[in-house]
Amino acid sequence: MAKEFKGKLFVFSAPSGSGKTTIVRHLLTQEKFGLAFSISATSRAPRGEEINGLDYYFISREEFIKKIKNDEFLEWEEVYRDNFYGTLKSEVERIWSQGKHVIFDIDVAGGLRIKKKFPKETLAVFVKPPSVDELKIRLKKRKTESEDKINMRIAKASVELATAPQFDKIIKNYELDIALKEAEELVGNFIDLEK
Ligand code: 5GP
Repeated sequence: MAKEFKGKLFVFSAPSGSGKTTIVRHLLTQEKFGLAFSISATSRAPRGEEINGLDYYFISREEFIKKIKNDEFLEWEEVYRDNFYGTLKSEVERIWSQGKHVIFDIDVAGGLRIKKKFPKETLAVFVKPPSVDELKIRLKKRKTESEDKINMRIAKASVELATAPQFDKIIKNYELDIALKEAEELVGNFIDLEK
C-alpha cells in the first residue's frame, strides 16, 4: 500500500436497487471530500452505457480467476453465479497515491471484508431500501435486467438485509434527498476525525 498517504475507505453496501450507486455518485461530485471511486473488476458483461475502466474493469472469467490465483485482490466475490466481482489491491494503491480517499460500491460480503482488513480506516455504510417490494419495483423500472436476473437479485436482497447490523452506519434510503444529506454528514465527520 502507498506509504506517504493512507486515506480513508468508505464502503457503501446494499442490496441491488437500494440506491447506493446514486448515493456514491453524489458523494463523488462533492470535491471537498477528495473521494475517488474504486473501480472493481468483474467478469460480467457491460450493461447499458457502462464504460470499461470507468464503471468497471471488464475482464474475462479466465482472467479473473488468474488474478485470484496471483493474489491480486483485496476481496472478491462470486456475487451471482458465474459473475465475479472484486477489488484489486492496485486500485486502492492508485487512489491513495493520488492523496484521495477511496469510495466503494460493493456487495455486503465484500464491504464487510474491507472493514475487517482495514478496521480503523474504513467507514462501512449499509444503505437500506424501504422494503423488498420497493426494491423489486426499482429494479423493474431500471429495465436493465431480465425477469430471471431481477428475481436472483431479490432473493439475495433478503439475505443481505440481515447483515445491516454488522455495518458501522445504516442509511435508510426512503427519501433520496434525506439519504444524500445523511451520507454527506457521515463522510464529512469521518474525514474530520483524522485531523
Ligand atoms: P452490478 O452487476 O449491479 O453492477 O453489481 C452487482 C453487485 O456486485 C452490487 O451489489 C455491487 O455493489 C457488487 N460489486 C461491485 N463491485 C464489487 C466488488 O469489487 N466486490 C464485491 N464484493 N462486490 C462488488
